[in-house]
Amino acid sequence: MTITARPSDPIDSLCTELYIDGRWVQAASRKRCEVINPATEEVLASIADGGPEDARHALEVAVRAQGAWARTAPRQRSAILLRAYDLMIERREQLATIVTLEMGKPLAEARSEVTYAAEFLRWFSEEAVRIGGDATISGDGLTRIIVTKQPVGPCVLVTPWNFPLAMGTRKIGPAIAAGCTMVFKPAHLTPLSSFALAAILEEAGLPAGVLNVVCSSEPGSVVEPWMSSGLARKISFTGSTAVGVKLLEQASRHVMRSSMELGGNAPFIVFGDADLDTAVEGAMVAKLRNMGQACTAANRMFVHSSVADEFVERLASKMRSLTVGDGLDEDTQVGPLIGPAAVAKVRALVADAVDRGARVVCGGFEPQGRGYFYAPTVLADVDPASELMAQEIFGPVAPIIPFDSEHEVVGLANSTSWGLVGYAFTRDLERALRLQETIEVGMLGVNTGLVSNPAAPFGGIKESGLGREGGRAGIEEFLELRYLALPRPADA
Ligand code: NAP
Ligand code: MG
Repeated sequence: MTITARPSDPIDSLCTELYIDGRWVQAASRKRCEVINPATEEVLASIADGGPEDARHALEVAVRAQGAWARTAPRQRSAILLRAYDLMIERREQLATIVTLEMGKPLAEARSEVTYAAEFLRWFSEEAVRIGGDATISGDGLTRIIVTKQPVGPCVLVTPWNFPLAMGTRKIGPAIAAGCTMVFKPAHLTPLSSFALAAILEEAGLPAGVLNVVCSSEPGSVVEPWMSSGLARKISFTGSTAVGVKLLEQASRHVMRSSMELGGNAPFIVFGDADLDTAVEGAMVAKLRNMGQACTAANRMFVHSSVADEFVERLASKMRSLTVGDGLDEDTQVGPLIGPAAVAKVRALVADAVDRGARVVCGGFEPQGRGYFYAPTVLADVDPASELMAQEIFGPVAPIIPFDSEHEVVGLANSTSWGLVGYAFTRDLERALRLQETIEVGMLGVNTGLVSNPAAPFGGIKESGLGREGGRAGIEEFLELRYLALPRPADA
């Protein structure tokens, strides 16, 4: 296949090699792999396809850079992050175009992702100079306890394709702020955003060797050498629970600090007293952001039987009116899925639900032509035993299940091994507060379909993960406590 990117594409000016020690270098094997535009199936770029030798080299560089980087002044690290934030905002249009081209989301959503991604750099520029400690006296009065925080050391960062910029900055921001060096493997389906980000960080003054980027069409061939080396001190992973579990096993060998942002199976609950306009708006965001390809996507929609018919009708009428197409067209509201396997998975999940009695209210088909599209779909009267209740749909399909009582719906919501996020729509404040205690999730949106916020601790409980990204907690994942004991004379 030939490369068909247009001359005006911001991709033309990107380096597409491995980024190691401040240089763009070929893979040792000289292998390349292609990046595809999911809206057109065209090849966008050919990138260096890294392997174990490149991985080991990148990690050696990160290990060598760690000492000097940890000794830099917090204000210096803060300033680099703030400059990179400014550059990202200045170049929002180019970055958004790259995100849309490689990942498919509509430009408007890509612009939001650039802002969201940049905000992590600004947030952590503010955290870099606020790394605290503690000093106290032991209970018996005989010891002074002095606690400091230090960078954990070289980190392994691994991110998925669905938010190619924001999943990177959510890890790179706190790692820089804390004084950690990094080896970073972005998803090979969407590596171009990460190359643009690395170039911006370099321009903002990030020293060579602090961030090293190695992409590969065989992710294990790069990540496994990092995990088994004994040289990396931390893994921060965002992706599927299956791969997260594998990496936790690998992390156990050298007892690496582990942060895991894994899959979800979000319940979206509309109570009988909800404002239905707000609930439908919330459903559109929680279901259709990123074409449903988000760990936070509403996966199971429980609607009180007193309002279920009206909710289904209103949601379907909105979903039907959406424009599906290439995200580069400003008119597009719903872009393609990431690839043919994603479309096949959604097709099979819808077929299974329909076999079990679900009614297709809108959608349920694949638009003709090139690209990996699936029409926004509403399924009513879904049997809770359907496959799509137990798996991440990762597509624009809203399955609706009626319920009758809060007790019943909380039980349904919690009947999953995941616990990332939930959504509830109600006018009853007491109930909303109760749900925060009873629904087993790390994040609960009440009367909103969007919880992501750089100032909030993002993360899940149960099999949705370990640790938090963003908020006050985000930087702590990259710091470790050291405590100094100093005898205190009894007569002090
Ligand atoms: P994935 O297959 O787990 O991939 C995630 C990352 O791991 C990619 O960089 C991937 O590389 C890499 N990888 C795959 N197999 C690996 C292996 N054996 N060893 C080391 N690395 C490996 O997940 P995905 O399908 O790309 O992304 C969707 C998943 O991410 C969903 O489950 C979603 O819920 C989750 N997610 C969670 C959050 C959160 O914050 N909780 C946010 C976004 C997404 P390649 O892509 O190059 O193969
Ligand atoms: Mg994958």
